[in-house]
Amino acid sequence: MATDIADNLRRVAAGLPEGVALVAVSKYHSAEHIEEAYACGQRVFGESHVQELEKKHVSLPQDIQWHFIGHLQTNKVKYIAPYVSMIDAVDSYKLLKEIDKHAARHERTIDVLLELHVAEEDTKYGFSPDACREMLAAGEWRQLEHVRICGLMTMASNVDDEEQIAREFTVAADLFDELKGMYFADADYFCERSWGMSDDYNIAIKCRSTMIRVGTGIFGPREY
Ligand SMILES: *Cc1c(COP(=O)(O)O)cnc(C)c1O
Repeated sequence: MATDIADNLRRVAAGLPEGVALVAVSKYHSAEHIEEAYACGQRVFGESHVQELEKKHVSLPQDIQWHFIGHLQTNKVKYIAPYVSMIDAVDSYKLLKEIDKHAARHERTIDVLLELHVAEEDTKYGFSPDACREMLAAGEWRQLEHVRICGLMTMASNVDDEEQIAREFTVAADLFDELKGMYFADADYFCERSWGMSDDYNIAIKCRSTMIRVGTGIFGPREY
């Protein structure tokens, strides 16, 4: 098992073009599995449950950069605000404001991505492209001095049709360009396009992803 993780990680990392970062999605995987990946040099890990992240954060090396990739409830922001490296799936203005508030309390700035909903499934969270445009056009976010909007994150539909997946990622990539031009032209930090998981990260890279989030492809099936 341990050697599998090392092999998988090297294989995924070796296929990444320059400028594409890897978030190793460790949700439901043990601390031992994470340490295995850490020993290979991986430092960026993604978790999607606050309690699980809390436990791992205290027991694992402190130089791990934790991304919170799941749906985050506003009442749980306070737990991860002291240390989280990036919150990848901000899906409402209310959540953005709450992150800003807790980041301020800890005298830090938290990097975030806005989660875009482009998939056909309507169970997934995220801003529709228009809701995202409206939120930014409203301008209130400019007053939030303790969050930094670093780009967009999205998930494609869970389908086999590669053209559909590519179409969905392209919607996100086009919106990224639009928003970059309108609001973030001078902001070097607005540069992340986080799309691509185990089954579709090669398509995502062709659609200009800068940050893939791979779980199963590194750690194997999750242990629920
Ligand atoms: C679980 C998860 C992943 C990783 O999924 P795999 O198919 O295991 O690679 C990526 N992104 C998000 C938001 C997730 O919840």
